Amino acid sequence: MSWLPPDDDLEDGFEGFDENSFRTRPNPKANRPRTKRRPAHDDAQIGRVLGVDRGRYSVMMDEHTADERAITTTRARELRRTPIVTGDQARVVGDVSGAEGTLARIVGIVERTSLLRRSADDTDLVERVIVANADQMLIVVAAADPEPRARLVDRYLVAALDAGIRPLLVVTKTDLADPTAFLSHFDGLDLRVFTSANDQMPLDEIGAALIGHSTVFVGHSGVGKSTLVNALVPSAQRATGHVNQVTGRGRHTSSSTVSLRYEGVGGTGWVIDTPGVRSFGLGHVDPANILASFTELAGIAENCPRGCTHLTDAPDCALIEAAAEGRLNDAERSRLDSLQRMLQTFADKADASTGSSSGR
Ligand code: GDP
Ligand code: ZN
Repeated sequence: MSWLPPDDDLEDGFEGFDENSFRTRPNPKANRPRTKRRPAHDDAQIGRVLGVDRGRYSVMMDEHTADERAITTTRARELRRTPIVTGDQARVVGDVSGAEGTLARIVGIVERTSLLRRSADDTDLVERVIVANADQMLIVVAAADPEPRARLVDRYLVAALDAGIRPLLVVTKTDLADPTAFLSHFDGLDLRVFTSANDQMPLDEIGAALIGHSTVFVGHSGVGKSTLVNALVPSAQRATGHVNQVTGRGRHTSSSTVSLRYEGVGGTGWVIDTPGVRSFGLGHVDPANILASFTELAGIAENCPRGCTHLTDAPDCALIEAAAEGRLNDAERSRLDSLQRMLQTFADKADASTGSSSGR
């Protein structure tokens, strides 16, 4: 793979490149085993990467034992081009006691069960790795302020399903607006939705869903994600509210991705909090996987002609016919519109990269 500069040289921050940005174009050579023999590191211990800060990795060793501790590590030189992110299971050597003045280093990463990525926009081939090994994504939206955007949620859903991660949805600020109309967009989906009742978040139910899982929290900034994280993990002290105009502090303290332990009744789970983002680019997702994420529409599309684009001008598209013949309900029509807009951005991208102007 061709990489951007090593992330040691890069600033922390979601909008920056701390998440080990790299290019998505697969390079077959990159997967070939290296001929050079590497040290065996048989003595390596496995720890969980909690966070990354300027080239230093906070790693939890001996998780769930009396010796559990977070240590600071560096990364071995040979891993300079390997993205190591929150949630990774790192192989650590050296003095892993965490005692003052000791040094440990990461020499490898255990194969990941999932990898959540995003790009700045759909045309951007540079992707940011957000979290490794998460099995749930909790999407936070506000009923108002900021207005909920179904199409942004659809993007999160595509990213989650593409990565093999189960999505959950939380609606905050229901004291400000009724989210029923917004939520009807997702009626046909197998999506667990939590809404606050009487201005009170159902923390017990959300917490129960976190136990035994590694859940990445995503959302547009201002939706109340930090407020929710702090309520679930009181020690988190994630900064809330707006940037202090004088000091500029506030947002910055939550500009990197961190792992926090949820301690619930009957078990624990991992909350991985990510900085709020305005957009969630899917440049890394195979367009063929987008339709598959629209699970309630994918079945209908099986009757589409071969190679159907499902775009608004697609001839004999089964989805368009179903809509025209009144066979889609309101939610499905709304999702079809969202799907077509998303597919259109990919079609535009393909046109741009091939120089074609056929509009197909
Ligand atoms: P984040 O950017 O998503 O982390 O959002 P914050 O947690 O910082 O919250 C943004 C603002 O929304 C803060 O002023 C919160 O006090 C406010 N807020 C959070 N949850 C609620 C809610 O349920 N209702 C209302 N009205 N305001 C909320
Ligand atoms: Zn079609």
